[in-house]
Formats: sequence, C-alpha cells, structure tokens
Amino acid sequence: MAAYICTRFCVNKFKDSIRFIPQRYRVKTKWDFDTTYSMQLGSLWPSVRVAMLSEQKYGALINNFSSTSSMITAELEEEGCIDFIGSRQHSKDSRPLHNDPAEVDVSKPAAHEPRISPDIKCLVFPQGGISRFKPSRPDSTGLLGYYLLDAASVLPVLALDVQPGHTVLDLCAAPGGKTLALLQTHTVSFLWANDLSGSRTARLRKTLQSYLPREHLEENKIQISSFDGCKLGPTEEKRFDRVLVDVPCTTDRHSVMVEDNNMFNRSRTKERQRLPLLQIQLLMAGIQTARPGGDIVYSTCSLSQLQNECVVQQAISQAQEMGISVQVQDLGWLTQCFSNTFYFAPQLSVGELVLPHLCANFGPIYLCKLRRSN
Ligand code: SAM
Repeated sequence: MAAYICTRFCVNKFKDSIRFIPQRYRVKTKWDFDTTYSMQLGSLWPSVRVAMLSEQKYGALINNFSSTSSMITAELEEEGCIDFIGSRQHSKDSRPLHNDPAEVDVSKPAAHEPRISPDIKCLVFPQGGISRFKPSRPDSTGLLGYYLLDAASVLPVLALDVQPGHTVLDLCAAPGGKTLALLQTHTVSFLWANDLSGSRTARLRKTLQSYLPREHLEENKIQISSFDGCKLGPTEEKRFDRVLVDVPCTTDRHSVMVEDNNMFNRSRTKERQRLPLLQIQLLMAGIQTARPGGDIVYSTCSLSQLQNECVVQQAISQAQEMGISVQVQDLGWLTQCFSNTFYFAPQLSVGELVLPHLCANFGPIYLCKLRRSN
C-alpha cells in the first residue's frame, strides 16, 4: 500500500511538472507514456524525458568504401569530432572480482572485449556539444562519405562481434543503418539483410547503393529480401554465425516528438500491445537461425521493460521448451569501453540500455546478447 501511495504521489508530481512542457512537445497520449516510464525509471525519468524532448545527437558512420573517407574523417576531426569507437577505453575484464564464488552470477559468463575491426569509425561531437553534421557529400563515383545515425545504434553491431569469415543475418534490416555498419567492418563473408516491409526494403537497397560500390553489391556476398522474419526460424535453422534482431518497437524518441503516426496514439493501442508478442517471435526466429555456438543480438530503441528485458526472458524460456539452450552474454566490456560517450542505465536484469541524457543525447537503445549452445 505504501509503495502504491508513493508511486501515485510521484506520478501526480510528474503530471504537475508536465503542465510546463510547451504544447508542441506534448503527445496526445502523454499520460500513457509518462506514467509508464516515470514508474519504470523512477528518479531518472525527468532527466531522460528532458533529453528526449531536446535535440538528439547524431554520429557520422564513416563510409570506408568512399575514396574520400580519410579526408572526411580528418575534416570532421578538425571540427572537434571524435571517433568514439577508436578512442574507446579498453576494458581488461568486464566483471567485478568476487571473493565469494557464491556471489558470481553464472547465468552471465564473463566476457572480454572482443577484437573490434579497426575499419569501423563513427564520429561524434564531444559531450555537451550541440554542433550538427552537414549533409554528406558524394565522392567522384557518387558514393556518400558518411551515414548519419544515432551513434548508440552502432552498439548492437559492435556487440554482435562479427569476425572474419562469419555469416550474418540482419532479420529486420531497413532502412539499413546497422547493415551498413556491419559492412564497414569488412569481416562479413555473407550478409542477408531482410525486412518485412517492401517499401522499407526498397529504402534499404537504395541506402546500400549510395554507400557501396556496385561490384560489392553484385557479388554473392549480400542478399536482400522482404520476408516475414518470424517465418525464417524453421527454414534457415542453424545457418548463421551471427544474427541481429533489431525489432520494430515503440521508437520512443520519435514517439515523444512526432504526433503523426505516433505509436502511442489511441488508434494504435492494439498494435502497440501486440508488439512484445511480435518481438518474441522475431527473437525466437533469430535464435533458431543461429548455429550452435553462434551469437544473437536483440535490440530496440525503446525504454520499455516489456519490449526489452521481458522479451529476452520470455524468448529464453520458450527456446528452452523447444530444447534450445541460450545464455545471456555479459556486455560489461561494452559499457566500460563506451561509458565516456554514452549514459548507460544502471542494473538491468538482462542486457544494457543507453539512456538519453542532456550531456550525451543518444538513445534510447536497448541491447542484449545471447549465445546458442546446442
Ligand atoms: N535495423 C534497422 C536499421 O538499423 O536501420 C532498423 C529496423 S526497425 C527498428 C524495425 C524494422 O522491422 C522495420 O523496418 C520493420 O519494417 C521491420 N519489421 C516489422 N515486422 C517485421 C517482421 N515480421 N519481419 C521482418 N521485419 C519486420
């Protein structure tokens, strides 16, 4: 009862504070959104909310297929940008040392920092800076020099840890930011980029055409398709070394700022409520398509526990019922390496969450890495 009263008190306080939010920043369904996240994030929510209502920061993913990539990188560095991947702090061992073996969480095997390809570069303006990137220019062959994206959305790609010779499935790939980041590592031997939506798949193809030499796209190394990802589990079973499951979600930053086609509109309530089920089905398909020993990264751009940790936990138990064993992999190395650039949520039950923050206004991006063992 005390907890209930306390929660109601916090929500009411929050409702009071919301009256000061300018009309253009309010979304019709603000109560739904604010109530859910103020309860979930507690004292962190007001600061996350303010960050989400402020201008988002971008990262420039350098296109190393462009002949001008070194020049563009140098130009951006001269403007003060930093390659957040190349300048990461190296982690030794991501797990805190325990004296008592009983304290060690065996469900999360210790993970060391993997070898990240030196070819992938993503430049950001320094913390607190509000400079914007100019639109990218084409080189003499028409290839664009960089791709602008939420820099935190590169993290699921880094967590996937693609090594030379790996086959990769990008299950929900459009419009293609993460596909492009995967290709910048020059490690993938075969990449299948899939998306249910035909129009978004066309956008993905266009993105790849603007950034990759034609010969590269014509080789048999990249396959683009428009299938329902949920159905690929049985047909592509145990086929891939790495699987990225970047699911459709409530896209919280978009939802808080843009009223048009907002996922929190009453007309989309049913669709929103069905999202976790679809996300579980997609993650299950991802798990099925991974080979034994292969890794799967699940990601969203939502703060929602129901779409993040709950989906992962549900998929793990459904996989177990099917006789597939998957273990959550520790991403402590990733939070250690990139804590200078991103603000990570403390203490999630599974996975990691980049929280928007005024000093580091990226995210939200949730990611969780799983390893299939049989
Ligand atoms: N990975 C993309 C990127 O980095 O640019 C963003 C993916 S977006 C978050 C989610 C995508 O899932 C949407 O493009 C949507 O069309 C696609 N999608 C929705 N349902 C799907 C399904 N059943 N199978 C495959 N893709 C689906």
